[in-house]
Amino acid sequence: MNALSHPLIAIMGTTGVGKSQLAVELALRLSASLRRTAKVINADAMQTFSGMDVITNKISVEEMRGVPHYLIGCKQPGVEYKIAQWIPDALGVIQSIHAEGGIPIVVGGTSYWMQHLLLHSKLPSLEVEARPNPQESPQMSAVLQAAVSTLPKESLDLWENLPPTAPADDHESSLRLHTLLMALDPPMAQRWHWKDVRKLLRSLWVIKDSGRLATDVFASQEEEGAPQPRFPSIVFWLYSRPEKLEPRLDTRVDQMLKNGLLSEVMSMREIAAKISSEDGRDVQALYTHGIFQSIGFKEFDAYLSSPERTQTLFDEGVAATKLATKRYAKTQIMWMEGKMMPAVLAAKAMSGPIDVFVLDATDLERWNEAVKDVAVDLSMKFMRGEPLPEPRSLSTVADELLAPLKPADSPLAILARERKRICPICSDLCKQPMMYVEGREWEEHVRSKKHRGRKLYKERRDDPNYIGNIKKREREEAEAKARAEAEEASESGSEGQLHEAELGEMFGNR
Ligand SMILES: [Zn+2]
Repeated sequence: MNALSHPLIAIMGTTGVGKSQLAVELALRLSASLRRTAKVINADAMQTFSGMDVITNKISVEEMRGVPHYLIGCKQPGVEYKIAQWIPDALGVIQSIHAEGGIPIVVGGTSYWMQHLLLHSKLPSLEVEARPNPQESPQMSAVLQAAVSTLPKESLDLWENLPPTAPADDHESSLRLHTLLMALDPPMAQRWHWKDVRKLLRSLWVIKDSGRLATDVFASQEEEGAPQPRFPSIVFWLYSRPEKLEPRLDTRVDQMLKNGLLSEVMSMREIAAKISSEDGRDVQALYTHGIFQSIGFKEFDAYLSSPERTQTLFDEGVAATKLATKRYAKTQIMWMEGKMMPAVLAAKAMSGPIDVFVLDATDLERWNEAVKDVAVDLSMKFMRGEPLPEPRSLSTVADELLAPLKPADSPLAILARERKRICPICSDLCKQPMMYVEGREWEEHVRSKKHRGRKLYKERRDDPNYIGNIKKREREEAEAKARAEAEEASESGSEGQLHEAELGEMFGNR
C-alpha cells in the first residue's frame, strides 16, 4: 500500500458537534505520527470574515493549539466572499500544502462550498468566473444560435434585454419568460411552472451566461459521468441526533449572548450603516449579504432598532436566534442527505476515491471514543492507503443515516423529473397555461371533475351537431331574423317620420 501524496481530509456537520476541535486533534495526531504537517482550511462562509468571533462561532487562537488555519478571518466584514472566489482560494492553499508534503484538513459547515471543493464542480458561476473575460458574452453554441434566430420579435427583445431580477406576482412577465424559455429550451421549460419566475429567469441566465442550452450542458455532463473527487478524500460527517442536539444549540445561543453577541451585532450595524452611507446601498438589502447573514444578526434587529429596547423584544430576539440556529442545523443535515451524499455515492459508483464516515457526536461525554479516536484511526488507515471499513458498519447512527441514501440521478434524468404538461383544454378555457406534473398529477387532473367538465363544455361548444348548438344556432338565427325585421320596421318608421317632416317642410308651418 502506498502512502497518499495528494490527500484531502474533510470535516462536516452542524454546529455544536465539535468540528473545529476534531480538525485540531487530527492535525496534531497526523503531524506527530506521519511526520507530515497537517494544516486546517476553513469552509465556513461566516468564519471567513475577520472579527465578530462570537456570532460566527470562530475557534480561538488558544484552541488552534499552534495548528495553522487558513481562510479564516481573512475578509473584511461588509465585503462579499462567494463560492466562485472561495473555491480557487481553497484549491490554492491545498496545492501549497501538498507541495510541501503536508496534509490539508478542510473543516466547515457551509456544505455547499464543501461539496463543490471535494467534487469537481459544474457550477455555472464557477465556469463563468473561469473564462478569460467573464464580463464578455460567451460564444453562443450553434444550437442556441439556431434557436435564437427563430424567436418571434417579442421573445427576441426579451432575450436581448433579459432582466437581472423579476418581480414576484407579475404574471404577465412570467408568462413571457416562460414562452421564451419554451422556445429556446423546451425540456428545461417543462421543468418549471410558468408562474415560477425565479427559476425561469435563472435557467435563462444560465443559458445566456454559458452560451449553451441547459439541455446541451446536461447531455455533455452525462457523457462525462458523475463529478469525481478532486483529490483522494476521506470525509467525516459529525452527526448528533436532533433530540440531543437541539437543547445543546439553545444553550449555545445563551452562551453566545454571555460572550458579547449583542455588542458584535451593534458593531455590525455600524459597519452596515457606514457602507450604506458610502455607496448608497439600502441597509436592509445589505443585511442579506456577507457576514450580515450570520444567525443572530437580523434576529435582534427589532430590539436594537426600537428606542425602548424592551425585555419582550429582547426575549423575542433570543427565541428567533434559537429557532434560526435549529433550522439551519436541519437544512445542513438535509443538504448532506439530499445533495452531498447522493453526489458522493454517484462518484463512488464510478470508483471515485472518496468515502464519507458518519461519526456519532450525539453524546458529548463520549466524544473522544465515538468521534476523535475513530477519526484518527480511519485517517491513519486512509493516509497509509490501507483498506477502509464499510461506512455503515461504524455505528447504529451511521447505519440509520446512510442506509436510505442513493446515488444522485444523472443530469438528464433530473431534467426529465417533474416534467410538466400543459393541458390544452383547460389552458384554452382559462386563458393561461394550465400545467401539471407528468405522471400522477397529470393522471389525476385528467380524471378530475374540473377537467372533464371543461372538456365536455369545449367539445359541445365546438361540435356543430350538438343539440344545444343546433338550438343555439336556431335561437340565434331566430333572434337575427327578429332583429332584422324590427330594424326594417323601425327604418320604415323613421322613413315615415322623415316623410312627415318633409311634408311639414314642404308645406311650411300651418
Ligand atoms: Zn385540463
